[in-house]
Amino acid sequence: MKLHLLLLALACLIALVYGGTKNYYPSRFASESDSDSSDSSGSDSENPPWPQFDPSHVYKGWELPADELAFHEGKMKEAIELAISRNAVFASTIVNATSGETVCQSVNSIGKTKDMTMHGEMTVMQNCSSIYGLLDWTGFYIYTTGESCPMCQSAIMWNSFSKIIFGTNVTTLYCNMCLTQILVESAAINSMGYGLADWGEYVPAQIIGGIMSSVTDSMFINYCNEPNSPVRVTPNCSGSGNSHNKQRKRKSHK
Ligand SMILES: [Zn+2]
Repeated sequence: MKLHLLLLALACLIALVYGGTKNYYPSRFASESDSDSSDSSGSDSENPPWPQFDPSHVYKGWELPADELAFHEGKMKEAIELAISRNAVFASTIVNATSGETVCQSVNSIGKTKDMTMHGEMTVMQNCSSIYGLLDWTGFYIYTTGESCPMCQSAIMWNSFSKIIFGTNVTTLYCNMCLTQILVESAAINSMGYGLADWGEYVPAQIIGGIMSSVTDSMFINYCNEPNSPVRVTPNCSGSGNSHNKQRKRKSHK
């Protein structure tokens, strides 16, 4: 028993020294003294030469004007209805912010295409780009029933969408529903897009999360109860009872 306590204390100490799961993201503008330091701790390679930013703020419904919230909820409802009509859960739509028109809509088509990158956001952006031929989607919003993964978030940023509106967040999908995820929040990637333009010119997308999540959360399958599913993982989340090193046992998606 004492040995267990000793090992636990040692694990906590190691977690604190190496950053643990908190303070994962670097603070705004890494300390210049760090990069100028002659310290030879070997950590230089961990600090890129450009500024580091904390994750973007993810706006919630209550932070929005009532008319804007109503607009987003109406558009999310469209995405939800699309998902239901296509027997899918991940659905995505693109909306012209000026006209309010939904110009494209699509769902996750991994099963249909046998392509793991065909997430709802990817398919709707590819479809819409092929129709409209735009290289800059400033003035358009993209809606998704589930928070964008790093691939989709990056693609959305390459396309310069003005707002990203999602329902269920990645924490719920991974920690509560045991769904495979690359564990970088969309807000963390969103804050690092300034290299897409000259310094000072880049305007990051606004992320709005949790829109109609009470509905979208209920749409997703709880893979924790699907032990044979290829997309099920045992989440390594604090408080889940699975927070100790069950990581790095890669699964094939095939
Ligand atoms: Zn994705």
